[in-house]
Amino acid sequence: MQGISIDAFSFADIAGNCLACGSDALQSWDDTVEHELAVGGFRNSKCLGCGTVFTNPRPDRKSLSGFYETFEGHDDQAFVKASLRYYSDPGRRAARHKDYLAPLLARKQSGRLLDFGCGAGWFAAMARDEGFEVDGIEQMPAAVEAAQKELGLSTVRQGDEDALPETPTYDVIVCNNLIEHVTDPLDFARKVRASLKPGGLWMVNFPSADSAMFKSFGAHSYYFMTPYHLTHFTRSGFSAMMARAGFQNTEYDLQSEAFYWMKGFVSKLGLADAYARWRNDPDFVSFDIALDGLLASISLDGDQPALNEICFAKLG
Ligand SMILES: [Zn+2]
Repeated sequence: MQGISIDAFSFADIAGNCLACGSDALQSWDDTVEHELAVGGFRNSKCLGCGTVFTNPRPDRKSLSGFYETFEGHDDQAFVKASLRYYSDPGRRAARHKDYLAPLLARKQSGRLLDFGCGAGWFAAMARDEGFEVDGIEQMPAAVEAAQKELGLSTVRQGDEDALPETPTYDVIVCNNLIEHVTDPLDFARKVRASLKPGGLWMVNFPSADSAMFKSFGAHSYYFMTPYHLTHFTRSGFSAMMARAGFQNTEYDLQSEAFYWMKGFVSKLGLADAYARWRNDPDFVSFDIALDGLLASISLDGDQPALNEICFAKLG
């Protein structure tokens, strides 16, 4: 990433145990490779028990907050605009409905739902339209404002993980594209559990270390973006962490997200700028959705994620 070096970060102690399954059989893995959304040189460990790969030592929360403020702060409006398009653009909305909402609706159709890390609220708005009673929590003030004003989500509020209620409140908690960013995912999972009612459901997706992309590209995968992404879970590691956090049963669906595959390839070909312009072309949406469908069918045939997995973890 331009303009930042690993020296800007301070670190927690090196972990001696896997943060997913708890095993002490850790092996050092490749260092993070520099790219447009990754700071090179972070050290990573691989768990020989479950295969999860994670940044170790972890940057501490204070230096991570500084990083997000400096490197995302200037781009708030672009983030909000992109997030709103998932709801306002019919093609993107249909694709997101299929990838994100349909797997939830197959398991639960109503109740009190919290979208934690909701961005500008595209998922919360779609869940509301299906009849859920929705709340949202989001760190970025510009996204909170857009969710309230543009999508009419008056219950979206600003906050971080400390804003999760400590008593059973929700039937469903949704975390889209979030847990790979969290410094202590086991602790976070326990906080989510405390906020769920008995029988509650946590829907959480993550970029999978079992995926074809991770296996093909490893530390060169576009999704290997430290310090944004700090953990690359395998399914077995994720299930072990869920059990440690007190979730009795877990099941999985696959998610394709063609966008990051495309980004990986075009960056390697030096076509990132052309791609960024093309992506704003209306024709792009149908191409994006077609590629998504292709990746989804490949991954479903092999029962192996192209990129992401969605975990549904239940209490009781
Ligand atoms: Zn492990």
